[in-house]
Amino acid sequence: MSETHNFVVLGASGAGLNIAHSFLRHIGPELKELGKVYHVYIVDSSSHFFWNTGSPRSLVSATLLPADKLFAPIADGFKSYDASLYTVIHGTAEFWDVGGRTITIKLADSENTQTLPYYTLVLATGTRTPSPATSLHGNYTISKAAIADLNTKLASATSVIVSGGGPTGVETAGEVGQFLNGSAGWFSYRPSNPKAKVTLITDADRLLPVLSKPRALKAETFLNMVGVDVVYNVKVLSSVNEADGKITLNLSNGEQWTADVHIPAWGTTPNSDYVPADLKNDRGYIKTNGTTLRADAAGSRVYVAGDVGDYSRGGFHNLYATIPTLVTNIKRDLHAAATSSEPDAKPEGPDRLFTPNNSETQAVPIGPRGVGAVNGWGLPSFLIWLFKGRNYMIGNIPVTVNGYNAPTP
Ligand SMILES: Cc1cc2nc3c(=O)[nH]c(=O)nc-3n(C[C@H](O)[C@H](O)[C@H](O)COP(=O)(O)OP(=O)(O)OC[C@H]3O[C@@H](n4cnc5c(N)ncnc54)[C@H](O)[C@@H]3O)c2cc1C
Repeated sequence: MSETHNFVVLGASGAGLNIAHSFLRHIGPELKELGKVYHVYIVDSSSHFFWNTGSPRSLVSATLLPADKLFAPIADGFKSYDASLYTVIHGTAEFWDVGGRTITIKLADSENTQTLPYYTLVLATGTRTPSPATSLHGNYTISKAAIADLNTKLASATSVIVSGGGPTGVETAGEVGQFLNGSAGWFSYRPSNPKAKVTLITDADRLLPVLSKPRALKAETFLNMVGVDVVYNVKVLSSVNEADGKITLNLSNGEQWTADVHIPAWGTTPNSDYVPADLKNDRGYIKTNGTTLRADAAGSRVYVAGDVGDYSRGGFHNLYATIPTLVTNIKRDLHAAATSSEPDAKPEGPDRLFTPNNSETQAVPIGPRGVGAVNGWGLPSFLIWLFKGRNYMIGNIPVTVNGYNAPTP
């Protein structure tokens, strides 16, 4: 038997989990037939996967969607494999030695670091939102505590500001409005007995940039129907926590607004601090060959998966569209290396190429209603509710963690 090669996956969310499972299930066994032994390392700052798709409802009230339902242990998803084939590491990639082909990881459960050599590297560390209630900021316990804190504050809130006019902001404002104000009845455009002043502010002149203008306007109407007002062309510049627990926002229009709760839902940041500057674009996303999904400048057998790549449009449906390309090209590269005396041998024949789908595709629940489209075809409000708003698709959690949909390359 030859030496063991390390297949290292950084980030165990939608992108990283799919690739790790696809390797363990399909690619690894084929390489073993060729006499090549691999060990898969799955590295994540959080011990648990976070289905943040459900966070707009969960952060409003534990009664509506308990936060516990949104988290699942990453290690449990790999229990079906031979334990000698993989290791799940709870830790944060802090330093990447590109020339030396190692990743240094700060381990979560000690003061120690571990430097891991890699033969193949998959970068899938995603992005984070300003609030830990809507994305991981380290271990999942931080997000769980942030959700619980918002649950407590919103229970008695009479003024709430949500900032950000993308899907997270619109969904969150819709959930807050529905929870605090209820929904308009028949032939009415406002709830009859609102408890709170809920405002969604955006620095853009419209909501939901992925969707058409008419659908964006419909989203505003649906927000009004759960007692949410929308303010356009205003940006939050800074915020100050007041002694009485309220928060004051300094806005780009020169005004100051004070509310019981502010939920920021704009501005994602790529988790790429460990990546050398020359391998990132000016916004911090990892430079990737947008068709083969290799990080060409980072040496052989380095791939970028999911939202941290500069090619990504964000969102699970866009991410899943890239996985077949990634696993096919990973398999091609590793087969070429396995069957050649030259470790950096290039595979014969054409790579599988990724073509982005730039169509109007998004589903946005807004309280009991919703707007959305698939490939430009509008979806009726009740279908958005049925497909997503009913339970924010939490059935996808075991599918993702256990890799049930991991593709065969
Ligand atoms: C509130 C919210 C709602 C959303 N709803 C939808 C939706 O309804 N539909 C949809 O299609 N998309 C939705 N999205 C987008 C979707 O969540 C992302 O597209 C998807 O999660 C991206 O997956 P990823 O694997 O690329 O990265 P992420 O999900 O961002 O995961 C990155 C992983 O890497 C880990 N990590 C980060 N840095 C390090 C490091 N240095 N070392 C080790 N591990 C690290 C993190 O802990 C995390 O587990 C939503 C996003 C948000 C914020």
